[in-house]
Amino acid sequence: MALSFFLIGFFCAFILIGLFKKFQKKNLTTNDKATPSLSEERENTHIKQWLDMLPIPAFVLQERGKNHLSNFLPTQERFYCINQAAQMNYKDILLDILRHPAFFEAMQNIEKEPVQNLDISFVIPKNYYFTIYIERFRKYQPRPDLILVVIIDQSQEKYFQKIYRDFVANASHELRTPLTSLDGFIQTLLGPAANDAKVHKQFLEIMQTQVQRMIRLTDDLLALSRAEKNETLALKDKVSLRELVCQVLSEQQIKLQTKHIDLDFQCEVENPVILADHDQLLQVLHNILENAVRYVPLGNEKPARITIKLFQVGKNARWPNMGYVIAISDNGPGIAKHHLGRLTERFYRVEESHNGTGLGLSIVKHIMTRHKGQLYIESDVGKGSCFSLFFPIEMEKAEEV
Ligand code: ADP
Repeated sequence: MALSFFLIGFFCAFILIGLFKKFQKKNLTTNDKATPSLSEERENTHIKQWLDMLPIPAFVLQERGKNHLSNFLPTQERFYCINQAAQMNYKDILLDILRHPAFFEAMQNIEKEPVQNLDISFVIPKNYYFTIYIERFRKYQPRPDLILVVIIDQSQEKYFQKIYRDFVANASHELRTPLTSLDGFIQTLLGPAANDAKVHKQFLEIMQTQVQRMIRLTDDLLALSRAEKNETLALKDKVSLRELVCQVLSEQQIKLQTKHIDLDFQCEVENPVILADHDQLLQVLHNILENAVRYVPLGNEKPARITIKLFQVGKNARWPNMGYVIAISDNGPGIAKHHLGRLTERFYRVEESHNGTGLGLSIVKHIMTRHKGQLYIESDVGKGSCFSLFFPIEMEKAEEV
């Protein structure tokens, strides 16, 4: 008897403990969201790993229930997961994306439109243009509370589109000015001055100057386009920088003599040979020397002077590596500091009235990039200018050369 009571008691206790455990487990999975179940945890890890594998910036937002106020608030807590690509480059602007009115609106419509594409832009901290792809986890049944957001950064593409647009507008403007003036002269020659031989000669000379300006401009445009196109081509010529400078000086000799320029060429290295594109380097030196010749003082106020120094440098605070430097200095008017950073931009001129094309230094920059070199400009108003061309010497290649 006592044994049967004991057995009944034992079975009741067993069933009660079982029910209590089941109840406890149920409570945990349904009410306590802070402690996810094992399968939920596995699922979260799976989503996060999958998101991290994406090479483009993306993040997942978590909805907080239909009537939850924070559902539409752009707060940090809404981020369920941010992948590495987004953490690395876009961390500081993720909240700005959430706060953008277009994004805010998209979130409000997410029920009706679970897949959306938006274009949004910012100007601060810099110009950003994004296409944002939003998709609610519809097919992923257990997690309809999650929303995937992918950032497609179009900023660079927009920037290049702007450069291209500006370039076409500038080139058209530069060609239009001489063409308009030619048109005016032709109309005068055909009309009021048709029989005036003296005016004919005078106008034809001006027209020739305008035509020469257009030829210079188209030559520079072609040179710029070639320099850009060839920027990644391998360098094959063994060029002696000393001989190169001598060649440019002999080609510019007449100009130098006509302007009575006192020229000093100091070569401090014995055999400065590098792998290069000979014709491109000739162009670089011509562009810089022509500028110096154009800007040195004319007349008797002070003697016009240009100095060219060719020397070797080691890596230090001033030079990025071991290499050769050709420094061309003049005692012209100099350039104000605030222009220096923009001189290599296409069509940039310090004075609009000056009749150069504004393309010369831009061509120089592209050619120097191909030679893995650099252009340094030092100048100040009243103190003249110095344009230094730095050519790195790569030790293993130097031996081949
Ligand atoms: P450009 O063909 O008009 O000379 P560049 O690109 O060669 O164009 O030069 C850009 C601008 O830099 C020039 O318009 C000129 O104002 C300035 N500049 C270039 N070299 C010198 C120099 N040696 N002295 C003073 N200003 C210079």
